[in-house]
Amino acid sequence: MNKAYDVIIVGARCAGSPTAMLLGRKGYRVLMVDRATFPSDTVSTHIVHPLGAAALSRWGLLERLAATGCPPIHTYLFDFGPVSIAGAPGTKDAPVGYCPRRTILDKLLVDAAAEAGAEVREGFTVEEVLSEDGRVVGIKGHSRGGGAVTERAEVVVGADGRHSAVAETVRPEQYNERPPLLCGYYAYWSGLPMDGRFETYVRPYRGFAAVQTHDGLTLVIAGWPYAEFKANKSNVEGNYLKTFELVPEFAERVHGSKRETRIAGATVPNFFRKPFGPGWALVGDAGYNKDFITAQGITDAFHDAERCATALDESFTGRCSFEQAMGDYQRARDERVLSMYEFTCQLATLEPPPPAMQQLFGAIQGNRKAMDRFAQMNAGTISPAEFFAPQNMGAMMGDAQVVS
Ligand SMILES: Cc1cc2nc3c(=O)[nH]c(=O)nc-3n(C[C@H](O)[C@H](O)[C@H](O)COP(=O)(O)OP(=O)(O)OC[C@H]3O[C@@H](n4cnc5c(N)ncnc54)[C@H](O)[C@@H]3O)c2cc1C
Repeated sequence: MNKAYDVIIVGARCAGSPTAMLLGRKGYRVLMVDRATFPSDTVSTHIVHPLGAAALSRWGLLERLAATGCPPIHTYLFDFGPVSIAGAPGTKDAPVGYCPRRTILDKLLVDAAAEAGAEVREGFTVEEVLSEDGRVVGIKGHSRGGGAVTERAEVVVGADGRHSAVAETVRPEQYNERPPLLCGYYAYWSGLPMDGRFETYVRPYRGFAAVQTHDGLTLVIAGWPYAEFKANKSNVEGNYLKTFELVPEFAERVHGSKRETRIAGATVPNFFRKPFGPGWALVGDAGYNKDFITAQGITDAFHDAERCATALDESFTGRCSFEQAMGDYQRARDERVLSMYEFTCQLATLEPPPPAMQQLFGAIQGNRKAMDRFAQMNAGTISPAEFFAPQNMGAMMGDAQVVS
């Protein structure tokens, strides 16, 4: 390899920084750039499910996160009106999730990448992804106020989010596409204690959730179907607050608390992209984007970082061809997330659960083991395919009959 860098990574948040860190730890020459500077916020809520926390633990970063005063979340509660289900979302080894502010989580990840030896350029915007003979060979961009700079590498990794400039250049195959399904709006509140619970309330065509984050603040997000985006756009605040009135006990808690920030919001498309090609790779939202209703994006980005860094290492060391290693990365990603993707897209419609599902919720309610399984499925600890498998369904219904 005679290029200045082995890998250039565009984007330094949940996907980019861990990829840079893991490659840096293996001794590769890594340049990571981001037009943002850190710490900085981004439009996203930020639940990190137990398997995401497990990744941080594998990387030696979970203690650092806990030391920032981020409260652990040990219970996920789902309130469907007539039925509510509360369970433990994790495993014995990874029992809790967290909801760290992105200002804190992303900075921690950027610092870990730098500590691992990656060169980090903050405030650097990539304007062009350079190709020669059908192969990506580098980037062209500039620092704030600086002139154009060109950098070359064996592989350019797009960790640059759903509007990825790398993907825009290489135009990868896109599949399983769905349009935006949901609009979500959130703000931070003080005086709204959650005691380690992530609470989700589901009503026909409306949903909201609350979870504690840093500094004694509680993040509260509310959503409605994308079909109502235009109609509700002129009064987001009124519609956001009105959603809580669907659950009077929650509305009362909100009335006793104080909103500390403005309301931010987003709506996103759903798609998979082929995450590699000659001289390039994609991780995180750049390669696979989905509605945020199941809060999988950060945990998925962590998984991508691990698998992509492993695949690149296998290809650089010659243990495997680039095509083979990256093909395995794509297959493993798609296999891991596909049933959660379908589940997420279904949930994001906010359509009332069909009668069979309501019956299932009723059967699960009060059955500790089944409620834990339900919480684990929503956290992505077990897949929806596993949860909804006839054998598991039969076992849960059977358990319920024994309990009732
Ligand atoms: C409303 C909302 C709520 C969400 N809630 C959750 C949740 O609770 N839990 C969860 O796990 N996920 C959640 N997500 C999803 C989560 O935000 C993403 O999955 C996650 O941020 C993906 O990380 P990433 O590193 O791939 O991309 P991003 O976080 O989008 O980072 C991309 C980075 O690339 C940089 N970049 C882009 N283009 C360039 C360029 N040309 N030059 C230089 N830099 C560039 C950007 O500055 C940015 O810093 C939510 C998303 C939304 C919109």
